[in-house]
Amino acid sequence: MEKHILSKSTFLRGLQCPKSLYLYKNFIQLRDTPSTEQQAIFNRGNHVGLFAQKLFPGGKDASPVKRSDNLSAVAKTKELIEEGCEIIYEAAFQHEQVLAILDILVKKDGRWYAYEVKSSTKISQTYLLDASLQYWVINGSGTQLEDISLITINNQYIRKGDLDPHALFNIRSVKKEALSNQDMITEKIMQSKLVAASAQMPEVRIGEQCFSPYNCDFMGTCWKSVPKNSVFEITGISKADQFALYDAGIKTINEIPSENLLDKNANLHISSSKSGETVVDKAAVKHFLAKISYPVYFMDFETFMPALPVYEATKPYQHIPFQYSLHYKSEQAAPVLHYEFLAEQGLDPRRAFIERLLEHTSGNGSILVFDALMEKNVLNGLKKDFPEFSQQIEERLSRFVDLMIPFQSKAFYHPAMKNSFSIKNLLPALAPELSYTDLKISSGSIAMIAFEKLQTETDMFRILEVREQLLEYCKMDTLAMVRIFEILERSVD
Ligand code: SF4
Repeated sequence: MEKHILSKSTFLRGLQCPKSLYLYKNFIQLRDTPSTEQQAIFNRGNHVGLFAQKLFPGGKDASPVKRSDNLSAVAKTKELIEEGCEIIYEAAFQHEQVLAILDILVKKDGRWYAYEVKSSTKISQTYLLDASLQYWVINGSGTQLEDISLITINNQYIRKGDLDPHALFNIRSVKKEALSNQDMITEKIMQSKLVAASAQMPEVRIGEQCFSPYNCDFMGTCWKSVPKNSVFEITGISKADQFALYDAGIKTINEIPSENLLDKNANLHISSSKSGETVVDKAAVKHFLAKISYPVYFMDFETFMPALPVYEATKPYQHIPFQYSLHYKSEQAAPVLHYEFLAEQGLDPRRAFIERLLEHTSGNGSILVFDALMEKNVLNGLKKDFPEFSQQIEERLSRFVDLMIPFQSKAFYHPAMKNSFSIKNLLPALAPELSYTDLKISSGSIAMIAFEKLQTETDMFRILEVREQLLEYCKMDTLAMVRIFEILERSVD
């Protein structure tokens, strides 16, 4: 058997953009290096797929010894089928040089059923295409499928005792969709094979396909000629609007005419970018500051969201708080104090988290949070989990002030904010001396994955190292809030 030309992922890549498929097949060295965040996500591992095997226990695994040896996985699958094995994990099939690896293949009453596991709670269009391709390959290779289903996570499941795979997962047949996609799949496979074998790169202009359904990993190549300060830096407007400007020859923000159809916020960014000036609506900033009373707490939580609920009475993807950082100023001119909490790995962090937090915030004064939604949700969740703390949590919530408001409402606008009001955009603009770039953990999602991995880490040195990195990261978030708040205060002096 010849090696495959297309796999599930290269087929989907070709559907997103033929140029991406061509580059992948012929110039893979041009692929962008994944960001630390993407790398952390890739390395996360797929516990969901393994756990879903419990729905059909006692199967045999067809995975090859060497990860890339797909032909031996195809041969092993064939062997297992011929031996009469009725449950096969990681079953591999090849048809017309297209490879498909299926999570679970089951034989019931002499008929074959295919199951593909997704760690998501919803079925997307991409998952349907993925299943349709699997159906095409498996049937084409000679194993006739009675049905093909997607296994997704039931977001209503609440853990009680041991995880119950039958209650945790939803199984939905997608055979109808797979059947109606078969002709399209045949045609697209033919086109994709031609692209992969072509001596010439398809001519494709940059466009919305570069972001949908995934951010393309050849942007470093195709987007090389997009200038700095381009129209793509205006966040908060649609990709269609950005490309309409770009395709009309208006490539940079400075080239956008003052008469345009973009909204008020986009125009604030455009005018501020052209003038380089910070715009401050002093009355609005003063109004915001009047809501805040000293002592002031600057608070930030880190949470992790395990797909498989780890603790009693939790749901899939529930935010589980494991860390907070708290800076504190008793009055405007007072020095800044710092408090923090980071849960011990391997234990349910929720009780220790809320007890320490209530202790650390027991005084008076405002509690500043940047984009308070997640923190509010976490505290409201903890109110239900620990009704004995309900009143105290309610009191802390009543002292919340969202520091994002003056930036979101554009009462304070710096051109480097680029129409975005995230703290990561504000910091380089307002407090360049503070930076996330030198931190090993530099975003909430990396922190989440790092803590999740700590749960199974046994190397004490690694545990200490990661804990230090987590503390450093969360501390930076609240220190950034302190600086941003001081800048707001000074802006109305
Ligand atoms: S960056 Fe855009 S145009 Fe280039 S290969 Fe990717 S999707 Fe295609």
